[in-house]
Amino acid sequence: MRGRIRVACLAAWAASAVPAPAAAWDFPGHRIVGAIADLVLQQYHPATQQRVSELLQKNDGGSVQKRSLSEVAVFPDCAKKGNVPFCGRPPSDEEKAYAERNPHHDQFHFADVPLQQPSYVPNTAGTQGIDAVQMIGYAVAQLRGKTPPAKPDVNLTDTEAVWLIAHLVGDIHQPLHVGAKYFDKTCQTSVDPNIGGTPPTFGIGDTSAMTMGGNLIFLVAPPPAVPPVPNLHLYWDSTAVVRAMQAAGSAHSEQDFAKLLAAAPPGGWETTGSADTWAAQWASEIMPLAVEAHQRLTIRKGSKPSPFSFTGGCTWETTLDPSYQDWAKAQARRQLAMAGFRLAALFKAIFEP
Ligand SMILES: [Zn+2]
Repeated sequence: MRGRIRVACLAAWAASAVPAPAAAWDFPGHRIVGAIADLVLQQYHPATQQRVSELLQKNDGGSVQKRSLSEVAVFPDCAKKGNVPFCGRPPSDEEKAYAERNPHHDQFHFADVPLQQPSYVPNTAGTQGIDAVQMIGYAVAQLRGKTPPAKPDVNLTDTEAVWLIAHLVGDIHQPLHVGAKYFDKTCQTSVDPNIGGTPPTFGIGDTSAMTMGGNLIFLVAPPPAVPPVPNLHLYWDSTAVVRAMQAAGSAHSEQDFAKLLAAAPPGGWETTGSADTWAAQWASEIMPLAVEAHQRLTIRKGSKPSPFSFTGGCTWETTLDPSYQDWAKAQARRQLAMAGFRLAALFKAIFEP
């Protein structure tokens, strides 16, 4: 179970030293997902919209401030340390209170399921009790009035449960927030770090090296070109979203882009079965996309060492060609739309079952 400790270190790093990887789907992506859900709820599920709105309203010295899913979807990132440049403001008192009650909140945002695995399975390498999949389940159970099994150092108000769901449903529709490539100790051969046994063991950082969801796969470009962002994870978080907006002619308006996506649900967006299972289904569904997001690339061992001993020592490099970028922006557009419609459906399932 050593892998858990490694992941904890990873999250601590993401929170403290380098803010960039924390900005999952970057902020435009999260606001767009929230805005699609706002539009769908207003149009089709007003009772759910009313319930969500009541939970999000803030009493500010006697006046009531209404807040949308689009606004609150970024709060879990704004609550992270070092994220002021991305959030555009210091953490609010509300975000600080959430961070204090949930000291490992940085880890709520992702899983690192090995690309060799066909689906999300709890208690295997790259999963943990407070990963994105399991935290969505926890917050959903809380809002449904069930008492979720306690998790150490997890304590959400119902308002925080709403904004956390609004954020995490976005995160788990970004392929590199769910699937991760691992290598053997030479950092040249892809491996599955699951070793097996009871309880299961995995040697992340010891017998295998981790790319941290692509955060350690650096982008390089032939001079004089410079890569759009430093690493593959951030490319999917931010650049792919921006390029999808540009391609749709909504480069400067997240709201216009959200309206465009909300006008037609993407094929295959609906989820069957109990809402309790949806997050795991979505995580499993995105694995082939995570695989393809790596398979389309030539990923080489890099010359720079990893800044973190727990990752296994290496960094990697890759170059994105135009066809990869065209493919990625189309995937990002579809994933944002899926996340938006599914976020609305999840709140409907919670409040109007
Ligand atoms: Zn996130």
